[in-house]
Amino acid sequence: SLTDKLQNVFKKLRGKGRLTEEDVKVALKEVKMALLEADVNFKVVKQFTKAVQERAVGQDVMNGLNPGQMVIKIVNEELVSLMGSETTELPLKQGNEITVIMMAGLQGAGKTTTVAKLAGKLKSKGKRPLLVACDVYRPAAITQLQVNGEKQGVEVFSMGDKQNPVDIAKAAIEHAKANQQNVVLIDTAGRLHVDENMMQELADIKANVNVDCTLLTVDAMTGQDAVNVAKTFAEKVGIDGVILTKMDGDTRGGAALSIKAVTGKPILYVGMGEKLSDLEQFYPERMASRILGMGDVMSLIEKAEAALDQDQAAEMQKKLKKMEFDFNDYLTSMEQMNKMGGIGSVLNMLPGVGSKMKDLEGMIDEKALDRTKAIILSMTPKERSNPGILNPSRKNRIARGAGVDITEVNRLVKQFEQSRKLMKQMPGMMGGKMGKRGGF
Ligand code: GDP
Ligand code: MG
Repeated sequence: SLTDKLQNVFKKLRGKGRLTEEDVKVALKEVKMALLEADVNFKVVKQFTKAVQERAVGQDVMNGLNPGQMVIKIVNEELVSLMGSETTELPLKQGNEITVIMMAGLQGAGKTTTVAKLAGKLKSKGKRPLLVACDVYRPAAITQLQVNGEKQGVEVFSMGDKQNPVDIAKAAIEHAKANQQNVVLIDTAGRLHVDENMMQELADIKANVNVDCTLLTVDAMTGQDAVNVAKTFAEKVGIDGVILTKMDGDTRGGAALSIKAVTGKPILYVGMGEKLSDLEQFYPERMASRILGMGDVMSLIEKAEAALDQDQAAEMQKKLKKMEFDFNDYLTSMEQMNKMGGIGSVLNMLPGVGSKMKDLEGMIDEKALDRTKAIILSMTPKERSNPGILNPSRKNRIARGAGVDITEVNRLVKQFEQSRKLMKQMPGMMGGKMGKRGGF
């Protein structure tokens, strides 16, 4: 599924301490493939990956996140924005004033089911809905609406199948006025394919009745077809929003991602089953999380943000500037870095370090971190704060204590001195720029 594929891409990123422009490119290539396979409109995919690429490459990595998490964050935000960012509400009028809502869509898309679901939702919100049977081509459709209306405890207005839909709609509004109903929900006829007659009938209703909101029902299972249908309806009939049905099925998610971008109209609700209670308001954020399967990742990101101890970071920064950074600080920073996704990610946040990362590769091997920690823990506090006093006999003792070979201790000390030197050489890091990125 799309979710699995995206999670795989991010898993690879998550394993890295840092992220190069090349990493972003490779990851986005996979994101692109996954989206296309999920039946997302190719123009939308192109636009989307471009937007993410532009934001991801060269962007300051946010305080407390590693670059991989930063990319997930950006992808998530762009997905949300793709789907319209905000939740769209029905344009319901106040008090007794009548709101007229017309359902449109192909046969089998779910109009009759959804309009009854909607009636139930409105009723529970204290509205007084009236369902109107304007599908006069299939007698079964009228019965279906009546059965659903009864289940919802909502009146169904019908004039049989001998009248035309415009007259039925007009009469229904009069009926609603007379009976203090304040939302009129018109069920209409669909065809198997988009055709002129269907479009004309909807246009006729709109021309003769004051329709406040035309809702297009599309079947999410039909993927790109759903998007094309929505585009045609938006152009030919004019719609105000979309209800995506059958999202409980094995859909690939493409329709949900493309509709807003292609039609300019938001998704208001999603159908999540055949039962009349299975209609949910559409939340772009929740849908993005669902598509990314990212509930866990987002909480990880939040945790990383929270784990960042600002005071500690500021203290460390001061020491870095004064070149007082010692093994004690190294140990503290390791704890922090573990919480934040590894030393690589932390160093990568420092201005000017990125390009010199190669020199620090040995130190950044995340697997070696545990051994490094053991070595530092085997040092006396004095040794930790004065690395200069580490002579061979001390190193020998430390190696025994940590259960490692003395060469490892030597390597660590050497790397530590090198990185201190390296830090000293980087002018950007010592300036005032760190504040801008929040330091560590
Ligand atoms: P219409 O021709 O547009 O009026 O479509 P219907 O309302 O008659 O629905 C067609 C079929 O889709 C029916 O069997 C519904 O039960 C089913 N259906 C509608 N919405 C959903 C949904 O959200 N999930 C599932 N699983 N089935 C749905
Ligand atoms: Mg129907």
